[in-house]
Amino acid sequence: MFYTKTMNTKPIVQMDNPVLRAEAQRIEPSEITSEKIQNIISDMHQSLATQNDGVAIAAPQIGESYQIFTVAPFIFENPKHEHLVYINPEIINVSKKSKLKHEGCLSCRWKVGDVERNLEVTVRAYDEYGNEFTQSADGLLAHIFQHEIDHLHGILFIDKAENLRDMTQEEINEVLNEK
Ligand SMILES: [Zn+2]
Repeated sequence: MFYTKTMNTKPIVQMDNPVLRAEAQRIEPSEITSEKIQNIISDMHQSLATQNDGVAIAAPQIGESYQIFTVAPFIFENPKHEHLVYINPEIINVSKKSKLKHEGCLSCRWKVGDVERNLEVTVRAYDEYGNEFTQSADGLLAHIFQHEIDHLHGILFIDKAENLRDMTQEEINEVLNEK
């Protein structure tokens, strides 16, 4: 496998950091298997795993302005058969139906709000081996696709949210003590 162990977990950058507002760079498909990109993917998995409430992370959230997001294996029943890495992802189709979804972000501690999201989304992306694939999703995964792809274009959920508020200390403690 391409993953290289890194010694230190990269911290998750917070909303005042300009890297979160930049348009992330696309990656040449031939570069996907390079050590540099594989290390970033590995760092993303590692940083995401430190967050109790983390279901996905985009590369800018660890300070790397590239078009990559990764999804936490625990959201799937059988993660070995699922795509966990999305490179140069593009939304190619959405359902007409949308809904206000409750949302937070690892880079916007500790805010929550409601964002209008399409219920079904189809994404085209490259996986960590450099193979292109298309995936349709509904439910949580469709929600994740939209939030993470926004990150790759410098958009945060707080830009779109209604009912935006700070979490109470009790709610924060609940997140921190999960697992
Ligand atoms: Zn986020």
